[in-house]
Amino acid sequence: MGTMKAFVMPEVGRTEIVEKPIPEPGPNDVIVKTTHALICTSDVHTVKGALPVKDGVTLGHEALGVIHAIGSAVTGFTEGQRVAVNAVTPCFECRYCQTGYTSQCGGPLGGYQYTAQRDGNMAEYFLVPHAKANVAPIPEDVSSEAAVYACDMLSTGFMGAEHCYLKLGDTAAVFAQGAVGLSATIGLSLLGASRIFAVESIPNRQELSKAYGATDIIDFTKGDAVEQIIQATDGEGVDAAVEALGFPQTWEACLRVTKAGGRVSNIGYHGENPEPLRVPLDAFGLGMADKAIHSGLCPGGNDRMQRIFALIRTGRFDPTRMTTHTFAFDDVGTGFSMMQNKEDGIIKPLITF
Ligand SMILES: [Zn+2]
Ligand SMILES: [Zn+2]
Repeated sequence: MGTMKAFVMPEVGRTEIVEKPIPEPGPNDVIVKTTHALICTSDVHTVKGALPVKDGVTLGHEALGVIHAIGSAVTGFTEGQRVAVNAVTPCFECRYCQTGYTSQCGGPLGGYQYTAQRDGNMAEYFLVPHAKANVAPIPEDVSSEAAVYACDMLSTGFMGAEHCYLKLGDTAAVFAQGAVGLSATIGLSLLGASRIFAVESIPNRQELSKAYGATDIIDFTKGDAVEQIIQATDGEGVDAAVEALGFPQTWEACLRVTKAGGRVSNIGYHGENPEPLRVPLDAFGLGMADKAIHSGLCPGGNDRMQRIFALIRTGRFDPTRMTTHTFAFDDVGTGFSMMQNKEDGIIKPLITF
């Protein structure tokens, strides 16, 4: 059995590259030889200790590559084929999956297996469970550098937009324009929002946000974001708001900025909040405001991935503009600490193998 290099968390607060055995496929698994991966803010949260995981677990959940080995019960793929795998790898068989909530496979957040339940994929090789449903062949005319954004950022951001249930011409606000917030902006634009208010103060993110369809940039360092948006909409507020940061303040802002019939779509990760999230009653009409809250976790599976690839290949948007830095895998630790400290205008660091 050969060994490979893997980027692990030996204990809370620390990361390193170690040697691990190359995983062997069970009957329903596929092993992928990694070529490209993205570092995610979720990994930063995990290393901070926000998510209880086993010491020594391999980090990462946004990776793609070529098929290295195929389990005995898996059909329809060939070795060497270029494939991507979503961050969430549900079974597509349990009752949660059968009712359509595949990200909650087997129970709350159960579809999120990489790092949480098994080794992640910031490694030279990785295992794909329930491979027939989760391995996504990459169309020839979609680059790996673009396809890797389908693994989490675009799928999560688009879900955030989908949970806004827009009618053509609706207005929307997105709180924070990191990679997931930017992806939500792309999604809202594709789904027919008329005005998209992007709340962001960092110049390169503001610029990208406009390129991706935001019509109004709201700089929260120049005054309360909710007030600015309410004023810009003649006192009405917006039809939908996306929380893409994971802060109590932006969560409450989403509730305040939406008008009657409004939808609040949460994609931010609130696991690091010291306090439970509040639903301020004045922003919620004392509980009778005709507003809805929808939360969710990155949708996975091959069908989801193919839909995103179809949007990339027809040139609707270019996700690679979110790649601000590139590192060889040996330097993944540098990219990771830059993500931790949000240095040098970093949005997404691409790791090449
Ligand atoms: Zn991620
Ligand atoms: Zn399931």
